[in-house]
Amino acid sequence: MHEQSLVKALCAQVLVAAAPVAADKIRQVKVAIGPLSGVDPILVQSAVEQVGPNYGLTQCELTIEHVELEALCRDCHSRFTIEDFVFRCADCKSSKVQVTQGDEFQLLSVTVEEMIND
Ligand SMILES: [Zn+2]
Repeated sequence: MHEQSLVKALCAQVLVAAAPVAADKIRQVKVAIGPLSGVDPILVQSAVEQVGPNYGLTQCELTIEHVELEALCRDCHSRFTIEDFVFRCADCKSSKVQVTQGDEFQLLSVTVEEMIND
């Protein structure tokens, strides 16, 4: 499964980000997922539950931030949010649009126990 290999890479990245804190002290991981990332947030959630413990992430809660799909019009240079995958400028209706945001699968933050107790 695509999401499992992504989540394995994510877990490795989380451990590096939290080091030298032990994996079982990591309480929350926040990731950004865009609609064009090709990643299904529900599958990511279940992959973290399956794969996470292999990395020592036994107490870790995943928070997913859904990134909006944004684009830039090449004709009128307006920036707008794409809804329902309609790739057309909101202002001039041009179809020459460039996606500027929405394809990410990105680690945003890692919260460890010590930070919560502060
Ligand atoms: Zn336009």
